[in-house]
Amino acid sequence: MKAIISDIHSNLEALQAVLKDIERHGVDEIYCLGDVVGYGPNPRECIDLVMKCKVVLLGNHDQGAIFDPEGFNPPAERAIFWTRAQLESSAESRHVRERRWEFLAERPRSHRENGCLYVHGSARNPLNEYVFPEDIYNQRKMERIFALVERYCFQGHTHVPGIFTENLQFHSPDEIDYVYQLDGRKTLCNVGSVGQPRDGDWRACYVLFDGQTIRYQRVEYDIETTIKKIYAIPELENFLGDRLRDGR
Ligand code: ZN
Repeated sequence: MKAIISDIHSNLEALQAVLKDIERHGVDEIYCLGDVVGYGPNPRECIDLVMKCKVVLLGNHDQGAIFDPEGFNPPAERAIFWTRAQLESSAESRHVRERRWEFLAERPRSHRENGCLYVHGSARNPLNEYVFPEDIYNQRKMERIFALVERYCFQGHTHVPGIFTENLQFHSPDEIDYVYQLDGRKTLCNVGSVGQPRDGDWRACYVLFDGQTIRYQRVEYDIETTIKKIYAIPELENFLGDRLRDGR
């Protein structure tokens, strides 16, 4: 059994709660689809925890933190520069800092295994393309993306969890009672976001995958602690904390 997590966004309380939940489910390996950092108050701690995952992909915010941020809105960009300062801060040994930096810099953009593709954004543009639920009405876009998928594709980036089928239907986790049975037909699975869900449910989101069944997990965490930390950091705008409460 695998656990697939994504979009942690420096939210340590959410990540710790998810890792604890994963422990209870007989998981052999954790795959992370990127955006370990950005928006939240604990980039260093989250990178250190994620280093233990078997596969960790590069997200657009991770890339922004180590290279030059491009295409971000001003609050997101400020958070990225603050994140970079945290990674460069000399409060820790040079060895520890360099290890984190190199880890992020070496992340691959995609991973293929047993007919499954793992990306942050989409099969067509692994780092930056969003595939939103409403894209089922954009037949051209979806056909092109599906054409690049052998069987199953796991992705993140939108922070909106759900299943896309090749006949262009979208199923949110609550519509399918949090379980989806794969049947060999091409399927895209957005695993949702650990640290900043945007589907109206504030709880951290990730999936369990045994090769056939996708199981969505929602995990409560100490959201007020995260919000207080965000409020206390001037470079992180307060709405980045407020939005956690609404899952938006
Ligand atoms: Zn993200």
